[in-house]
Amino acid sequence: MESILLLAHTEADGTLAKPALEALTAAKELGGELTVGLVGRETQAAAGQIAGCGAARILAVTGDAFAQPRYSTDAAAAEALCRAAGTPLVIAPSTSRWARALPGVAYRLGGRVDTHATNLAAQGGAPAVTRWFYRQRMEAVLTRSQRPWVALLDAGCFPAWTGEAGRASVEAVSVEAPQTRTTVTGVQAPPADEQTIRPDAKLLFVAGAGWTKKQADGAVHAAEAETLILGFLRSAKASLGGSKSLVDLSGEGEAVLRFMTHLNQIGQTGATPRHPKGLSACCHGEEPHVVGWRFINQRRAINLDPNCGWARGKADVLYVADAFEVMRQVNSLLA
Ligand SMILES: Cc1cc2nc3c(=O)[nH]c(=O)nc-3n(C[C@H](O)[C@H](O)[C@H](O)COP(=O)(O)OP(=O)(O)OC[C@H]3O[C@@H](n4cnc5c(N)ncnc54)[C@H](O)[C@@H]3O)c2cc1C
Repeated sequence: MESILLLAHTEADGTLAKPALEALTAAKELGGELTVGLVGRETQAAAGQIAGCGAARILAVTGDAFAQPRYSTDAAAAEALCRAAGTPLVIAPSTSRWARALPGVAYRLGGRVDTHATNLAAQGGAPAVTRWFYRQRMEAVLTRSQRPWVALLDAGCFPAWTGEAGRASVEAVSVEAPQTRTTVTGVQAPPADEQTIRPDAKLLFVAGAGWTKKQADGAVHAAEAETLILGFLRSAKASLGGSKSLVDLSGEGEAVLRFMTHLNQIGQTGATPRHPKGLSACCHGEEPHVVGWRFINQRRAINLDPNCGWARGKADVLYVADAFEVMRQVNSLLA
């Protein structure tokens, strides 16, 4: 197998996060000689974290300029690491940071990039990248003759590497930080338990537009819908998805679930998250929505309509019931 450079950036605490460790597993399973390239303010702790991974070299670009995610500095660091390692293959986790910077780096190096890889495997001795096309409807396995070949690996496709931490020797690669116009003054984010998108959750809970429609009594119960859904998310630690109809309503300022944004949308024009289980409530289960459930292993839905899309082979279990009643009961059981 060709030699491999694994690119990883450190997190705020100086360590490597799960996606980087998953990409490390992928690189190791592929089998070529491994070089690790680290980027961050400090990289010694991260190098120590993966000291037992068997890498032939660990290279690092360090300094204050490389602590913050920013295209210009990330691309400069990655380019320097690729040149110093000189490997034909470059593997990196598809974090927002690398997804933004590495296509430009591949261009600078005269190479090629493939994003959203879901598998890396040897095919007749050569590396091959698996990815989905046409909104996750077709899966292809690609080989390429161009080098360097950069592959951005999606999270959740490989187990995170685990192994002995220790002391690792790191070769510094010096890079003059490019001029930047952006200064990062801080990060504003909601508390972690207010985040509704939780990629690591065991369950995806999808809310559809039915939550905001007139119910049997002729009235809309959006406020109760909010309480039921948020209550369930808190106790089940589930991730929240929405149908397109529901997230579009939010944008129009109608009676809606206020915590629902376009980032929650699941489907053909939304996200295709990976969770072991999914529960849909008040969502019709139309094909453009359900195509986003491709990687949900066990699917259940609650709908008043026994003829809804879920009933047509799209869910493992369909509860023909009023989702307000069901979720009230579920929440009281969880409490
Ligand atoms: C090109 C294209 C791309 C698209 N991309 C996407 C996409 O990425 N994601 C997506 O979601 N959609 C997408 N759509 C839209 C999709 O086809 C559907 O229109 C949308 O998913 C419908 O949303 P919904 O099921 O929430 O709403 P509705 O179709 O309005 O269904 C609401 C459901 O709630 C049920 N309901 C109401 N009250 C209750 C209750 N008390 N208890 C239980 N059930 C109840 C009703 O029976 C009904 O089935 C796309 C469409 C096109 C044309």
